[in-house]
Amino acid sequence: MTGPQPRPTVAAIPAYVAGKPPRPREGLTVFKLSSNENPYPPLPGVVEAATEAAARMNRYPDMGSSELYDALAARLEVPREHLALATGSVALIYQLVQAFCEPGDEVVYAWRSFEAYPIAVTAAAATSVRVPVLADGRHDLDAMAAAVTDRTRVVLVCTPNNPTGPAVTQAELDAFLAKVPPHVLVVVDEAYVEFVRSSDPIDGIATYRSHDNVLLTRTFSKAYGLAGFRVGYAVGPEPVATALRAVSLPFGVSSVAQAAAVASLAAEEALLERVAALVAERERLVAGLREVGWDVPEAQGNFVWFELGDRTADFAVVADELGIVVRPFAGEGARVSIGEPEANDRVVELARRFPR
Ligand SMILES: *Cc1c(COP(=O)(O)O)cnc(C)c1O
Repeated sequence: MTGPQPRPTVAAIPAYVAGKPPRPREGLTVFKLSSNENPYPPLPGVVEAATEAAARMNRYPDMGSSELYDALAARLEVPREHLALATGSVALIYQLVQAFCEPGDEVVYAWRSFEAYPIAVTAAAATSVRVPVLADGRHDLDAMAAAVTDRTRVVLVCTPNNPTGPAVTQAELDAFLAKVPPHVLVVVDEAYVEFVRSSDPIDGIATYRSHDNVLLTRTFSKAYGLAGFRVGYAVGPEPVATALRAVSLPFGVSSVAQAAAVASLAAEEALLERVAALVAERERLVAGLREVGWDVPEAQGNFVWFELGDRTADFAVVADELGIVVRPFAGEGARVSIGEPEANDRVVELARRFPR
């Protein structure tokens, strides 16, 4: 071959399988439950703020994202210097692997977990160390701590875990952090933190404050309903946040996204109501599934996990017939997002047709 050749690791990057859009069906409302999106429209005031920002699209965004940094610093009661904004928390994961890993350095994470992890790690020519989740879908934190070596630079803890659902507790996280050496950055991916209703939830802010090696990543994509605008943030010790900002794409977060995020933070009350309604739907769905014989793993995000093995593809086909799109993971299972009540009713019907 004579043409330009990318680094060999580029060919090794696994493809991101995005949730499929629904296929329009005559006489049937179809629901997309494949990407953990928020079924609600934007929060009050957000479309207006975004429209106003869109009118200034001939200008570059505020590169410092000052308003959004200020709003987040005030909301979380942390110094601005401890924050790093990015185009979604997926971008933060890329940035932290880029900033902390030389080629061949190890990144430990649970598996199955968020599919962007292996993509980001491979793209940086770092090495993935995957630790299987337990039978109930929880992180095996003892095994993850044992998997840390001198080459480990980063451990990713996904809580609630996408796609299996359970959340790590504060007691589990504390015990884990006590075992991890200080040179290893522990990233707590809290993309679904707003939905957690555990009896021992993680207090991410208190945890990062008491550790020099803990970073939280959060997003406006899920609870806040801004998936289409790509904005997320990290909270962590100043040197870590500084490194993340250093490798970020200049002007990455658009003016419209910044304005929408600031307006969304201002609509806290409406946000909490919506999250509460989605959590109530989640509990109703989990109870309905139990009635038809499906005990799904503890669901602490805005989705549930069906372990189906080689029935996964059939499950997705029957879902499609019922007018819902799920996210199948071939040979393993399917993740189904919490949607509108009618959509969730169809999920119960789907489960009824697939006796466990
Ligand atoms: C959806 C999700 C994200 C956030 O993605 P964005 O890039 O912010 O849209 C991060 N981590 C996990 C585990 C997720 O499921």
